Amino acid sequence: MAVAVPNCHSRVSMSVSMSIMQGTAGPTAGAGQQGGLHGAQPYYHPQHAVAPAHTQEQVQPDRPIGYGAFGVVWAVTDPRDGRRVALKKLPKVFASVISSKRVFRELKMLCFFKHENVLSALDILQPPHLDFFQEIYVITELLQSDLHKIIVSHQPLSSDHIKVFLYQILRGLKYLHSARILHRDIKPGNLLVNSNCVLKICDFGLARVEEPDTNKPMTQEVVTQYYRAPEILMGTKHYSAAVDVWSVGCIFGELLGRRILFQAENPFQQLELITELLGTPSLEDMKYACEAAKSDMLHRAPKPPSLSALYTLSSQATHEVVHLLCQMLVFDPDKRISVVDALAHPYLDEGRLRYHSCMCKCCYTTASGMRQYTSEFESTAPQPFDDRWEKKLNTVQQVKEEMHKFIAEQLNTSRVPLCINPQSAAFKSFASSTVAHPSELPPSPYQWEY
Ligand SMILES: [Zn+2]
Repeated sequence: MAVAVPNCHSRVSMSVSMSIMQGTAGPTAGAGQQGGLHGAQPYYHPQHAVAPAHTQEQVQPDRPIGYGAFGVVWAVTDPRDGRRVALKKLPKVFASVISSKRVFRELKMLCFFKHENVLSALDILQPPHLDFFQEIYVITELLQSDLHKIIVSHQPLSSDHIKVFLYQILRGLKYLHSARILHRDIKPGNLLVNSNCVLKICDFGLARVEEPDTNKPMTQEVVTQYYRAPEILMGTKHYSAAVDVWSVGCIFGELLGRRILFQAENPFQQLELITELLGTPSLEDMKYACEAAKSDMLHRAPKPPSLSALYTLSSQATHEVVHLLCQMLVFDPDKRISVVDALAHPYLDEGRLRYHSCMCKCCYTTASGMRQYTSEFESTAPQPFDDRWEKKLNTVQQVKEEMHKFIAEQLNTSRVPLCINPQSAAFKSFASSTVAHPSELPPSPYQWEY
């Protein structure tokens, strides 16, 4: 079945490996596919007895669906309404002050986000007493697939797909950047997609608020290598939201060519591949690079740009496509297009129209069939994300207490809180699943100085 972009007249659902992702088979088949979760019990139970509206036979087993840089994600059933949701375990929360603050930041962000193209927290599981507080579980919406799975599948991707995906990536990023948040790990696997092609940016394990002080060094251990901007590869000490735009450019190229645009074995070779396309950068374009990286670049044989190669990515690579792509893949971050300007590019017009005609939640159709459009197609955050609290927390215990308090505040709603059911078969497997395969983590930057 083809991957179908919804249009205004018929909503064709997309198959994108949904049967594998979501396990639409019964519990036995689903458990078999996932290796050993046969007979898994519902994952958690409500504190107060609320009988689920479905029988055990209809309950799909809880199963792992992903391992991000800083957490494990499971597909589970919410016992309150039988809805399938994603449950993310944020592990090793209190191993150090740095890790606990990072997790607290991610948690606060997930609760802060209110945007259709950004994944947010639906709920947090009730933590145990402070003395036993070790792990945090967050519930988010469950999406069936992600852009990585779609790109590597055999299903055709039309230019309508690419337009509507790119539009939503930029729309979500505009919101994040307006909140002063840099995602720092934009890659196809972190762009979740549902059956109607609605896309949501996820995994904020590496996200942070932009650093206004250019003298303050920022970590270079960010962004999965293939999507890593040249200024980070060249050891810049300070970078901006432009690093996310570079990643989007790489993904745009990948959607067109159905293969990773710059697929190198190490960060050094990564830079080689980039300069093969863009040519050797001028000194001005390398102004943020560290001295050793600059001098290394100047000692290499100069390369001419070969941007016309972008036309060979796909038959869909029109002048308009290459025009936008070339503005995202710019060596100098100051000259790279911003998300706001990219959204104003004519290439995105059709994606915007399609999205707001039948996919969004911000516009609606009246009883007489008239579409009422929102006044702001790409909304911004009402205020920047506040990270000043981070500076006040200096010990693991302080973070722990503040986080416990924060979660209690979030749970202060009329909904019945949920907590982990340690008796469930799935729990043992979930509890023992740790973070990420090492290859999932951004590799260390190239050591220019030695
Ligand atoms: Zn809309």
